[in-house]
Amino acid sequence: MQNIRNFSIIAHIDHGKSTLADRLLEVTGTIEKRKMREQVLDMMDLERERGITIKMQPVRMKYRYNNEDYILNLIDTPGHIDFSYEVSRALKAVEGVVLLVDATQGVQAQTLTVLGLARDLNLVVIPVINKIDMPTARIEETKKELVDLLGCKSEEIIAVSGKSGEGATTLLEAIVERVPAPTEEYYEANNCRALVFDFSYSNHQGVIVYVRVFDGEIKKGQALQFSIAGEKFTVLELGTFQPDKVVTDSLKAGEIGYLVTGVKKTGKAKVGDTIVNQSKPLPAFSGYTEPRPVVWASIYPQNADDFDTLRQALARLQLSDSSLSFEEEASSSLGRGFRCGFLGLLHLEIISERLKREFNLNLVIASPTVGYHVTSKKSEVTEFISSPHLFPEDTKDYLVMEPWVAAKIITPTEYVSSIIKIFNDHEVELVETDNWSADRAVLEIALPLRELMRNFFDNLKSVSSGFASFSYRLVEERPADVVRLDILVGEKIIPAFSKIVSKKKVDRLSQETVERLKEVLPRQLITIKIQARALGRIIASRTISAMRKDVTDYLYGGDITRKMKLREKQKKGKKKMQSRGEVSIPQDVFLKMIRLNE
Ligand code: GDP
Ligand code: MG
Repeated sequence: MQNIRNFSIIAHIDHGKSTLADRLLEVTGTIEKRKMREQVLDMMDLERERGITIKMQPVRMKYRYNNEDYILNLIDTPGHIDFSYEVSRALKAVEGVVLLVDATQGVQAQTLTVLGLARDLNLVVIPVINKIDMPTARIEETKKELVDLLGCKSEEIIAVSGKSGEGATTLLEAIVERVPAPTEEYYEANNCRALVFDFSYSNHQGVIVYVRVFDGEIKKGQALQFSIAGEKFTVLELGTFQPDKVVTDSLKAGEIGYLVTGVKKTGKAKVGDTIVNQSKPLPAFSGYTEPRPVVWASIYPQNADDFDTLRQALARLQLSDSSLSFEEEASSSLGRGFRCGFLGLLHLEIISERLKREFNLNLVIASPTVGYHVTSKKSEVTEFISSPHLFPEDTKDYLVMEPWVAAKIITPTEYVSSIIKIFNDHEVELVETDNWSADRAVLEIALPLRELMRNFFDNLKSVSSGFASFSYRLVEERPADVVRLDILVGEKIIPAFSKIVSKKKVDRLSQETVERLKEVLPRQLITIKIQARALGRIIASRTISAMRKDVTDYLYGGDITRKMKLREKQKKGKKKMQSRGEVSIPQDVFLKMIRLNE
């Protein structure tokens, strides 16, 4: 245990966490240079394409320093706010963090949030500035920011380049010297305790949990259980990540690795649960939280026959992602589908992409929404509504409560005034402004989660030329003045497009939505009307003219009567379609409507 160092890298998105991890893997010889590819720890196709880390990826490295062999365990964590609970559990599994700051950007909001988590856990923080190879790197300013933030000495800060590898060895030495070796809390013979910080699922091995062993030793064949879920299992296989799985005989206190459980039920493995012995189990770790969805969206198969495939696909994804929740929902107009809960919009996008790619499903994805507590003034019954098409059309007989978030924006001072200009539109309350350094300000704000989901973050990025950074947490519920906005295509409500919007903004949002739909909906054989309706009246309307198709094209010259006959036939056909209001809405239209601002 004396020669183990467990650490994580925390950074704002794109500050170079995965790239630096690549260099550490190279210097320690964990991955041969010829096998190296960029961001090797981002294993999913989706991660590599989008350049983001979605899945937690642990890796074990060997490092020789001062004639001693060390084991360094790194857990690369997802940087996006949707996954901050997962990050907090990963941090609980380590003794130290590398706080990585991009020298061209300086400290950003997400870094502060995660740093807060690390400090709560009393982790050792190693300040590192990255991208020093770039001509725009502001090395001295960034160092000063870190000194102010951490109260550390300037000499403690390590300067690296994830690109060239400069400073990587110095960083490894600092990890050995500054991060404390793990310690054990319980010394009972034949007992053990481990924290689950992530898991995956395999069809033949069942749930594979990623654990940090805190006490005792875990061996193959041992009878264990999930402390909170109560599920029992026998260890079928165990090992470490290098970064591919390597089988070992045991995992001892202080080590990080995986356990194959054979558990094939959903909902048993959860991030933050504790693995203990079946006999004389040690107490579970504190800090476990049930995953809490923040946004909901209804997902329906475009072809009703795919309903069972969709159910299986969701269940399959849930096996490796306990934060995805879904329940069956039948809507008369959408058919049978599922109401799904997500940690945020990125999470929703990832799941939709995976359903499409991995299961070949064509889906209708309804406008995502936050959840509202709706109390009838008459019956005083409170309902939780997270489907816009189930929301009351008029809320005058109801009291509606909605979630609010507290958020922090960090921005170069020159953008403060343009940022404040977008506050009004997003119903933002400015709680406090502070100067964080000579040229940086911190804005503490509160806003409805609904407004946050209405592209607040994108708008913030665009008014600050990408320099403002943002982090938030849910805090409370407040009364909401909102209404349901329905979208009609060809005179028929398309429930997937319904959304809940601020009453004050209903006019403008109606215009925006029909305009957007007009842009993205392909023209049809018939002329169709797109309308927005709220509180019983049509607020906005656009018309998409019919696609022209000359059915007589293939007839050369001559026979005018045949041409007329064909045109007549087409006219009748169109009339029939018009009366049935048949409009085909391709899958990508639903996705485009979710991302309103692109
Ligand atoms: P992450 O989101 O923190 O994991 O960041 P990535 O490792 O994916 O890096 C984000 C981007 O910055 C990528 O395009 C990298 O190639 C680039 N990058 C990372 N580190 C460096 C560096 O030290 N120097 C330069 N010039 N670019 C870097
Ligand atoms: Mg990354």
